[in-house]
Amino acid sequence: MASTSHPYTELDRRFPGLLQENIPLSRYTTFGIGGPADRFAEVGDPIRLAELLAAARESAVPVFLLGEGSNLLIDDAGLRALVIRNRMDRIHYEGQQVRVESGAGFHPLILDTVDHGLAGLEFAAGIPGTVGGAVWGNAGCYGRAIGDFLLRARWIEPDGRIREPERGDFDFAYRDSVLKRNGCVLLETVLELSPGNRQESRRIIEEKLALRRQKHPQEQACAGSYFKNIDPEEPGQQRIPAGRLLDEVGAKGLRVGDAAVFAKHANIIVNLGAATAREVLELAAEMKRRVREEFGIELHEEVRYVPAELPPSRGG
Ligand SMILES: Cc1cc2nc3c(=O)[nH]c(=O)nc-3n(C[C@H](O)[C@H](O)[C@H](O)COP(=O)(O)OP(=O)(O)OC[C@H]3O[C@@H](n4cnc5c(N)ncnc54)[C@H](O)[C@@H]3O)c2cc1C
Repeated sequence: MASTSHPYTELDRRFPGLLQENIPLSRYTTFGIGGPADRFAEVGDPIRLAELLAAARESAVPVFLLGEGSNLLIDDAGLRALVIRNRMDRIHYEGQQVRVESGAGFHPLILDTVDHGLAGLEFAAGIPGTVGGAVWGNAGCYGRAIGDFLLRARWIEPDGRIREPERGDFDFAYRDSVLKRNGCVLLETVLELSPGNRQESRRIIEEKLALRRQKHPQEQACAGSYFKNIDPEEPGQQRIPAGRLLDEVGAKGLRVGDAAVFAKHANIIVNLGAATAREVLELAAEMKRRVREEFGIELHEEVRYVPAELPPSRGG
């Protein structure tokens, strides 16, 4: 292919020094898995981000917006895309409302809100990742999620327009939001919290962190729960934990190459050192097969597998 028709030529010219070539994405995912990105940029400014998205759209270059990579399994072949790592992290308080840019860490935000005397998010202490990633998957635990607190937001639509959606526009559900389908890039959100007691909030946070230290891998790389819990048969009932079903079909102890089911939690896949995405996918398929055959239940992935080829110029 002649260099003038190379899809990245124009982008490289317009953003000198910003775009890096062939950056291994295993460095930027908590799984420690993922081949190289064609182009990689870290962006901390919303205007710069909008310019980059517009330029990628003009060049028909696919874009992948990366938070902290804590919910992702990226292909061993990497991504034929411009990967933008979100570093926009400003936080601003207006009474009980906190306006936060989408690249801010979710856990650091929780600590910051408590320092400001606000309560509400403590239940989620210790969830890794950015606010943008949390909103994308409506991250949460103990029956609560970030979407419960979101008042409004600002996002960039696939055609470049900036809009200010309200909570209702997000279609929040269990581990789900419209961001999984609409290709928008979240710039910032406004969360509504309540007045709190710093000491009590800090006590709850310590309690949640201690629980996570018991349940989650401390040494091995992972992406959290691999499968979603199962919807209850009757509304109002509790979800069936995928981990319980996986335990009952003997998932603990399963291993493909360096991908293994975590010894203390059957719904977590760990990377023992040099696991590949292919190994994780093979192991996950076996876990699903066992649950399907034993219980007639189809497990659905919570971790997003990202193939090497993406459609042009979508956000997430
Ligand atoms: C040890 C461990 C424990 C975990 N515990 C929990 C838990 O209790 N509850 C829970 O819900 N999750 C949990 N997770 C999963 C993960 O931490 C969350 O899903 C987190 O919110 C992902 O954020 P991220 O920034 O890492 O997103 P990434 O993994 O980087 O991205 C996930 C998706 O979000 C999209 N995205 C990211 N930012 C934006 C944006 N600004 N606009 C549009 N799209 C965007 C990406 O394109 C991608 O498709 C856990 C993970 C680990 C490793």
